[in-house]
Amino acid sequence: MLNKLSDTIYYLSNEDDRERPTLGLVCGDRYSLIIDSGNSPQHAKDFLLEIEQLNVPPVKYVVITHAHWDHFLGMNEFDATVIVNSRTNEMIKEWQCMSYDDSSLQKYVNTNQMSAMCMKIIQTDMPNRDSYKLKSPDVIFENTLTIDLGNKVCILESIKSTHTDDSTIIYIFDEKVVFLGDCAYGTTTNSLFHYKQSLLLPMIKDIQKYDAEMFLLGHESICDSNEMNIYWKELTTASQVVKSTSLENAIVSFKAENKRDPNDNELFFIKAFVNDHIIQSQ
Ligand SMILES: [Zn+2]
Repeated sequence: MLNKLSDTIYYLSNEDDRERPTLGLVCGDRYSLIIDSGNSPQHAKDFLLEIEQLNVPPVKYVVITHAHWDHFLGMNEFDATVIVNSRTNEMIKEWQCMSYDDSSLQKYVNTNQMSAMCMKIIQTDMPNRDSYKLKSPDVIFENTLTIDLGNKVCILESIKSTHTDDSTIIYIFDEKVVFLGDCAYGTTTNSLFHYKQSLLLPMIKDIQKYDAEMFLLGHESICDSNEMNIYWKELTTASQVVKSTSLENAIVSFKAENKRDPNDNELFFIKAFVNDHIIQSQ
C-alpha cells in the first residue's frame, strides 16, 4: 500500500529483503511525477497498480535518482517521460547494451558488471526476458531542471554525493519535502564500504539549502529534519577526526576532541572514512 505523506505526495516503502528502494509519487493539478522506477518491471507494475487505486492526474514524468540498477530497471513499464541527469545517462547506456538471458546474466556477474543479487531479482521478477532491452531516458539535464505539475513545482538538482557522482535530488517546493535517493549513503569499492569524504560537506550544503522538513531516502523511506540533523552531525563529527588510513589515530583524536567515546553510528562512520583513505591511497 502507498503511504500518504500529504495530499499530493505518496511513497511506496522500501523492501530490503527484495532490494526494492523507496518509490515516490508527486501529484500536481495536471500531472503526476514518479521518483525512481523500481528494481524490476514487476516492482514498477506493483507501484502502478497502487497508483491506479488513487484518483490522481496521469503520470507524465519519471525521474531516476541515480544509475544503480535497483532504481531504474523498472523504467520500461512507464508510459511517461523518463528524466535523468547527464552522468546517470552515461552510466545507464551500459545497461542498454546488455542482454538479459541467463547465460549473459551469469557472464556479467562473473566479470563484476552485475551483482549476484541483481541477477537473482531479474531472474525472479522477469520470467520473459530473452529479448528484453532497457529503453533510453527521454530527457537529459545538466545541473537543474524545474517541472511544474500544475501548482506543484518540483526542482531537480544533480549533485555529487558520498554514494555516487550522479545523484539527483528532487525538492517539492510548497511541501518542503526532498527525495534524496541514495545520496546520503556510502558506497562499496573493492569490497570496502566507504563514504566519499571530500564530498560530504558540499553534499550536505547542497541538500540543506532547500530547507526541507521531510526527507525520503532510498532504503529507509522517511526521516524528519530532527533525524536528518542527527545523521549529518554524526557523519561530520566522524569525518573531522579521520585524516589518514589509521583507525587508531582517528579514534584517539575523536576522544580528544569530543571528550567521550564515539557511539556505534559514529564508529561505523569513522571506519567508513578510514576505508575512503585506504581506497584513495590504492
Ligand atoms: Zn544506490
